[in-house]
Amino acid sequence: MKLLVINAGSSSLKYQLYDMTDESVLAKGLVERIGMDSSILTHKPTGKEDVTEVSEILEHTTAIRKVLEKLTDKEHGVLASVDEIQAVGHRVVHGGEAFKGSALVTPEVKAEIRRLFDLAPLHNPPAIMGINASEANMPGVPNVVAFDTAFHQTMDEKVYLYPIPRVLYKKHRIRRYGAHGTSHQYVSRVAAEYLNRPIEDLKIITCHIGNGASLTAVKGGVSVDTSMGLTPLEGLMMGTRSGDLDPTVVTFVMNKEELSIGEVNSMLNKHSGLLAISGSSSDMRDITDGWEAGKPNETLAFEMYEYRLRKYIGAYAAAMNGVDVIVFTAGVGENSAIVREKTCENLSYLGVELDKELNKIRSGEPRRISTPNSKVEVLVIPTNEELMIARDTLHLVQESK
Ligand code: ADP
Repeated sequence: MKLLVINAGSSSLKYQLYDMTDESVLAKGLVERIGMDSSILTHKPTGKEDVTEVSEILEHTTAIRKVLEKLTDKEHGVLASVDEIQAVGHRVVHGGEAFKGSALVTPEVKAEIRRLFDLAPLHNPPAIMGINASEANMPGVPNVVAFDTAFHQTMDEKVYLYPIPRVLYKKHRIRRYGAHGTSHQYVSRVAAEYLNRPIEDLKIITCHIGNGASLTAVKGGVSVDTSMGLTPLEGLMMGTRSGDLDPTVVTFVMNKEELSIGEVNSMLNKHSGLLAISGSSSDMRDITDGWEAGKPNETLAFEMYEYRLRKYIGAYAAAMNGVDVIVFTAGVGENSAIVREKTCENLSYLGVELDKELNKIRSGEPRRISTPNSKVEVLVIPTNEELMIARDTLHLVQESK
């Protein structure tokens, strides 16, 4: 079965076409600047030359039409006809409390995603645009939605509630939801497979650290705690997000600097984190370069980032009464040997022992970077959210037949 996986943002749309007989990627690509002049479509067919096309793409329906044209193009295509696509999987950021797993799209499912616009005003509307666009271009083809929050729906009430008046939860569903669930679920499963141990027996801390960053405590295969909250702002220090802070900072700054809600949201989401402390960049490559060159601001940014990450690992070891496996994944986790090294250096009390040479190797494959003596297995596992969505899509479509 051939499946298309779509990740729609407000002005972008990423796609991957899978052949699920062997889970191979037939093509992938990205449409950027949707709704602006000079939209860019980058199409990467496997085994053929990449192609970039600049045109005017005003909305998502046209974006998907262009993608389908590329997928069936004589020169750059990988399909004889669009009819070969038998299902489409969509990434959706917020599934609220309604979705504990992926779901086949129905009018009710779409209505529920719309009801959640309040909780994810930037992310859920483009997902609906993506679903509508795919229904318009491929009538009759089933759509599946996979939610970033779904994996964390196993969290206990004592974990997901904030200690604030309960009426706010009842009225507005204010609670912790988490994010990056597809990635945390994927890498925890791959970790268990790699170690050849039943996931039910394992206490795993998955560190998804990219531009956005979150940690999850995965016990027996389910998420028992995760560092993001009502929104992706809670938890770790990130590229441009602050992570945890005293909420009074918000009201104090709003008052002193006369900031609006929008301005303070923007400050905390887009102008904080590594970017704010270094004053130069949100990219960990620049931060570690600066740290190695002895630049004081980059050094402070690096130290704060690593310190906060390590504190969360300690917290999750406490939450699970131990840890068997620590997994590093996403842009920073997969690529930054120095972040992994510095973080693990201070986890010796847990029995973590890193093999510094193994830690430096890059492979793109799941691998162990701890020594044979280490009491905790430390692994680097490339995440693959698209594959996870494709697997869920296949499963749900087959089940519905
Ligand atoms: P997103 O959260 O946008 O999905 P990614 O998981 O792709 O992000 O991570 C992107 C981040 O990964 C970049 O901003 C950069 O900080 C970091 N990164 C990528 N390559 C490296 C590297 N070689 N060393 C350190 N950091 C890296």
